[in-house]
Amino acid sequence: MSRRIGIMGGTFDPIHMGHLITAEMVRVSAQLDEVIFIPAAHPPHKNREHAAPPEDRIRMVRRAVENNPFFSVSDIELHREGPSYTVDTIAALHAQLGTAELFFIIGADAMNDLYLWHEPERLLQSCAFIVATRQGVPLDESLLAEKFTPAERSHIHTVPTPHLEISSTAIRAQIRAGHSVRYLVPRVVETYIEERGLYRAHHEEL
Ligand code: ATP
Ligand code: MG
Repeated sequence: MSRRIGIMGGTFDPIHMGHLITAEMVRVSAQLDEVIFIPAAHPPHKNREHAAPPEDRIRMVRRAVENNPFFSVSDIELHREGPSYTVDTIAALHAQLGTAELFFIIGADAMNDLYLWHEPERLLQSCAFIVATRQGVPLDESLLAEKFTPAERSHIHTVPTPHLEISSTAIRAQIRAGHSVRYLVPRVVETYIEERGLYRAHHEEL
């Protein structure tokens, strides 16, 4: 049987417990053999203010997943020139991984925006999607029905995950305000953020 591989793409600015718990729950319920975390290099749609450089983001992801034998990290998007499109990443992974079946793990908030991504129809045809519900952001079924064909939508699955209202945006704001982010991120990530002085107010003014 071909390997079932989950792909967790994101900015991971920083990676947090919401990402890790979601990936682990989806891995178990979708019976995935492994999950690969893929930090994005140049998020085409994100405001880069208050952000950490790609090297710091990938190091935090590496630290966060190193004690889970089912998790790994790929720097495939960090080495690519120009904007990193998921559709290109999935094609490259198919070429690299041969017969493996790919499952892109995505939060409902990101899934509702998928039609705005680069070549969303081709993307939906190239791998299955597993949508993790995120509190306050239900999957917009009517929008999906409007934007995608039934064949395309047959590639979209949902997995119930605990509603964890944790976001990187809120974590960056907490740090900027001088507040603790303990338990929102793994201890090793908290330490890394402190050591590097990431997301602190004076860094934005540089
Ligand atoms: P930001 O606030 O900067 O947008 P984020 O917390 O949404 O950051 P991303 O790196 O944008 O994190 O997210 C990567 C993927 O993880 C997306 O598919 C997103 O929907 C999903 N995700 C993020 N946080 C959670 C969470 N708490 N529960 C479930 N899925 C999540
Ligand atoms: Mg987000």
